[in-house]
Parts: sequence; structure tokens; C-alpha cells
Amino acid sequence: MQVIPLNQAVDEQDWQALLAGAVRSSQQLLRLLQLEHSPLAQQLGGDADFPVLVPMPFVALMQSGNPQDPLLRQVLALHDEGRQMPGYVTDPLAEKEANVRPGVVHKYHGRVLLIAAGGCAVNCRYCFRRHFPYADNRVGRKQWQQALDYVAGERSITEVILSGGDPLLLDDSALAQLCQQIADIDHVRRLRIHTRVPVVIPQRLTAALQEMLAGSRLQTTLVLHINHPNEISSELVQGLHALRRQGITLLNQSVLLAGVNDDAQVLCELSEALFAAGLLPYYLHQLDRVQGAHHFCVPHERMAALYRQMKVQLPGYLLPRLVCEEPGQPHKTVLQV
Ligand code: SF4
Repeated sequence: MQVIPLNQAVDEQDWQALLAGAVRSSQQLLRLLQLEHSPLAQQLGGDADFPVLVPMPFVALMQSGNPQDPLLRQVLALHDEGRQMPGYVTDPLAEKEANVRPGVVHKYHGRVLLIAAGGCAVNCRYCFRRHFPYADNRVGRKQWQQALDYVAGERSITEVILSGGDPLLLDDSALAQLCQQIADIDHVRRLRIHTRVPVVIPQRLTAALQEMLAGSRLQTTLVLHINHPNEISSELVQGLHALRRQGITLLNQSVLLAGVNDDAQVLCELSEALFAAGLLPYYLHQLDRVQGAHHFCVPHERMAALYRQMKVQLPGYLLPRLVCEEPGQPHKTVLQV
């Protein structure tokens, strides 16, 4: 399991090769971690509609022989995912209603979300979009134009968010073209890119990408998704520091996940490690009730107790806002605990 260091001369082909070589089965993942004979091997399943996908740099951050590894638990498909649980649905945020055009989700005032790619570099088992109809939101250049026409026609939109399917799966030239087309819409002032690619393939933060983002007239923010301090590799830190030097704002959002980060010490360490890497902890999300993810749910009382401990231990600027998303609401809901 070799990770190519970021400071090595890497070109786009390297991150794309790492993506192409990603692990695509639970059995393969267990073999790589020497867990093929562990009880976990009897619990596999649940990947028929949402396949396993884990790039090797992320696998390399897992602890071999540890069935409780917090990174492994986020990506290993278990048969628990196939159980139907009351209250867990395929579209927990009612995004279909806000899917105003192919590739466009318009939920909140002033901001619009563009689906820039038809998938991700990693399939997180708790993902609220694990049933999202990407096939109905094809993201070729023709669809982009329709999406951009929508943004151009809505003068209240000042911020465009590129989100999962992960926008950093686009190659640099396609991403540069899309960002330029967004910048050409004069009422758009800010660009936000939600991504997990640099966490699972830090080599994606190429010098060309950094320069392209820094060169835009738009104020650009990169929002990463990191749930556990073990996800923060030295290669990732190096790439993030380079982005900060280019003036890119860096934020992080996490999801509270049973068996992964439902521990006050881990959450505090995460905030500290994020800040050291140049990221501000922005949101800690309550799990969205998506079908297949019930085993990640942290009960409300426990969540409240964890957050109170974080409040005591962390300075205010390292305390992420504890939020949930309620379908139909015009903003996220900050949970008062
Ligand atoms: S990277 Fe984000 S959008 Fe993609 S599967 Fe993971 S949580 Fe879902």
C-alpha cells in the first residue's frame, strides 16, 4: 500500500490512476487489512445498489488487523444496510423537490447547488445521497449550459456550490471551464466546492488546481468532509497549506457517526487537527435518516452529552456548529443542546 507523496512531481494522471485503482469490494478491503478471517467477513453485504469504492491512499490510513478502525467503518458495506428501518428513507432531505433542473438543486435563498460530477471518489456508507438519481442528472457540457442558464436567470443567486457527485473528479481543464463559466455570470460573487477527494486522494491537490482556484475573480471556499483525525494525512496537510497560501478559504464539515467519531476526545482531537491543517471546523451534522445508514445513528441524548463536553474542552472558534437539515426548511437547523 504505497502512497505517492504530494511533494513528488505528480501530474493529473497520478490521481486519476489512483482513482482507477481504487478498491471495489468489501472482501478485497478486508484482505488488504488482514481481516478476511475476522467476524466482519460474515457481516458483508448491502452494496448491490451502492458499491464499495475506496482509493488506496485512504486504505493506507487504516490500521491493519483492526476491525474497529474508524476509517474502515465508514466505507465497508455491511448487510445491516439492507434492513428497512422506520423513518429511514431514500431521499431524507427531499432533494427531488428542489432538483429544479437536471444538475441543479435550489434549496436556499441566494445559493444554488450544481451537481458537477456523477459520483464520488469514495462511497461513504452513511451518505444522504446514496440513492440520489445521478442518472437523471447527467452532467455533460450540454447539461452544464442548462444549469448555468438557470443561474444566470436568477439574479438572487450570489453563491454557486459545486457538490457531490464530487466536483474534484472533473479533470483540471473541465473544472477550469466550469468555474470560468460561473465567474462570467456577473451576479455570482462566491464559489464553494464541497469535496472529499483530497481526503481520500491527497494527490488531487495539484499545483495546476491550486493556481486555477486562486486565479478566479470569485471568492473561493473549499469545504472538506473529514470525520476522524486519522483521515488527515501529511500529504493532505501539505496540499491544504499550499491552498491557504493562495488565499483559498478552507472549512470542514463532519457527520456524527456511531462507531466512528462518537467520542468527545476524538471530536476534540479532530477539531485541533483540522485547525493545524488550516481548516476551520464548520459543521458537525446529525446523521440524515437515509435508508441503509441506521447503524450509524447516535441517539439524541448521547449526541447532546458529547457536544456539551466539546463546548467545555474547545475554544469557541474550534467548536463546529451542531446542525441537522430538515426537509423544506429555508436553512440548516442549529441544534440547541
Ligand atoms: S464523498 Fe460526500 S457525497 Fe460522496 S459518498 Fe461520501 S458523503 Fe456522499
